[in-house]
Amino acid sequence: MITFDTRVHSFPSWWQMPCVACEILGSNGKAVISVEATSGLGLATCPAHLETTERVMRTLTGYDEDGLRAVFFSAGLTTGLDAMFQAAIDAAVTGGPTEGGMLRAALSTFGIPSFYVEDRGVSYVLVAANRTADEGAAHTGPRVFLHSGEDAGRPAEQHDEPWAASLYAADGEYVNELFVARPGLPLTEECATTALSLACWLVANASRFSREEGES
Ligand SMILES: [Zn+2]
Repeated sequence: MITFDTRVHSFPSWWQMPCVACEILGSNGKAVISVEATSGLGLATCPAHLETTERVMRTLTGYDEDGLRAVFFSAGLTTGLDAMFQAAIDAAVTGGPTEGGMLRAALSTFGIPSFYVEDRGVSYVLVAANRTADEGAAHTGPRVFLHSGEDAGRPAEQHDEPWAASLYAADGEYVNELFVARPGLPLTEECATTALSLACWLVANASRFSREEGES
């Protein structure tokens, strides 16, 4: 594996930027430091995540969501991320009895609002790309459908296909499949993994789907 050298410098005090690691963990840490690598990439970080972010930048080769997720994991955003992941599993355990309820509970651990949708015999979990908690707005903006086959409302024990995440444009046009959860996991872990993957994807792509000023 290629490793890059990193350089660190402080942002001026007027600079407003979120810490990427904090965002993945669903909190609002303010970045005061920029970590740049000889790869040409850079990420902003808060002081608490400086070490982790530096480790990430030594191996990061792109900003795609899989890359980010993998490197933050292997660089050990572990104190935070392991705790979040365990919390998401715990939430999924109590979020039943339906598969969609368990997934939604895991998503809420990562601060991601979601909605259960039934439409012409098909059910899925809806997440707005800009994370709006307004269901009407979630239906009309860029959005992600989390689905297992055509169902999201079955009892957990009938869940038979890994969660898949599909991106749709504001006009309802299908864009692409973002990821499919790894098969063979217990459903609680699958829900936590799916929630984490989506959290990472949303962080990595947040600038494409930023909220309107004043929206909450
Ligand atoms: Zn942070």
